[in-house]
Amino acid sequence: MSISKRVSLVSSSPTLKISAKAKQMKQKGIDVVSFGAGEPDFDTPAHIKESAKKALDEGFTKYTPASGIKELKEAICKKFREDNNLIFSPEEILVSCGAKHSIFNAIFALCDEGDEVVLPSPYWVSFPEMIKVAGGKPVILKTTQEDSFRIKPEQLQKAITPRTKLFILNSPCNPTGMVYTKDELQLLSNVLIASNVYCISDEIYEKIIYDGEEHVSIASLGERIKELTVVVNGVSKSYSMTGWRIGYAGGPEEIISAMSNLQSHSTSNPVSFAQTAALEALSGPQDQVMEMVDEFRRRRDYIIDRLNETPGISCLKPKGAFYAFANVSEILKKGALKDSVSLAEKLLAEANVAVVPGSAFGDDRYIRLSYATSLENIKEGMERIKGFIEKVL
Ligand code: GLU
Repeated sequence: MSISKRVSLVSSSPTLKISAKAKQMKQKGIDVVSFGAGEPDFDTPAHIKESAKKALDEGFTKYTPASGIKELKEAICKKFREDNNLIFSPEEILVSCGAKHSIFNAIFALCDEGDEVVLPSPYWVSFPEMIKVAGGKPVILKTTQEDSFRIKPEQLQKAITPRTKLFILNSPCNPTGMVYTKDELQLLSNVLIASNVYCISDEIYEKIIYDGEEHVSIASLGERIKELTVVVNGVSKSYSMTGWRIGYAGGPEEIISAMSNLQSHSTSNPVSFAQTAALEALSGPQDQVMEMVDEFRRRRDYIIDRLNETPGISCLKPKGAFYAFANVSEILKKGALKDSVSLAEKLLAEANVAVVPGSAFGDDRYIRLSYATSLENIKEGMERIKGFIEKVL
């Protein structure tokens, strides 16, 4: 078998793999508590499902323009204007099969062979793989718990070379839950502007934010940074629509049009009636988003307290998204488990608890727990983790 060099560099998504394994075990009747993939456990709101049913009944089942329907693009422009103070025209919008797809298109549209892409770690699992398959070179900027997992402008400046093409920003961050302030973003944007480095700003967790934190889009901080930035968002997380696969990007027309061309030769349009549902999600009632975030906050408060009470674990309180990124270095130091992968594997095999190893996010001293699952599951899962750790320590 001769798989292409580029694709051989890519491994399968560990977040999706873990959750598939947990689902498989559940199907076999094993009582697994899954803190695996980041997928809200709430149902998609009824009014959104109704709009898709109606679209189906009305025969909206054929190709749409490859880059998405006009009505949805207009609703996305309105969303950007109202939520992010960003003015885009429909030509500056692409609708894709999930935010992941928009990010993929953007990286491919911007990266040439050997281009360097600066990526803060811990990072979301798919970023380095997408960069590599596009021929780019990930340049990882390490952040630590002590810095609240945020990079400093000097660090970014130092990482930039004549080959740097792109910087990837993800705030609120998966997996750390950290959120950059407006002032911090301003300083980062000054560095990007000075070196003409493009930015992909992944804002998929924008609405899942706590404690009065404010989400600011880096692209809203001035005309020049807007010209360098592709903002990516989607309906999966905010409206519990992961399976519908609708994400979108807003950015300079030239980049968006290159991304659209690429999409027109790969997937064509995102599913027609899922676009109708996304239109309803963005333009219909928003109260369910608030209710969901309130529930995530309750779960976050509980799981973070429980993690910090567990011997050998420490965890910062996330300010957004729905992940706890727990430091397990004290447990690994004891030597019975050699790394975050063996810890995650043993937890699943011996305690029936699924977590994602930190190595998948670029830091082996951690594990990630998604708290997008019921409080009851979280309580049970934390009991099992405590029992398991007590045996290991
Ligand atoms: N983004 C989510 C996660 O990190 C969903 C799975 C994926 O696409 O990686 O768990």
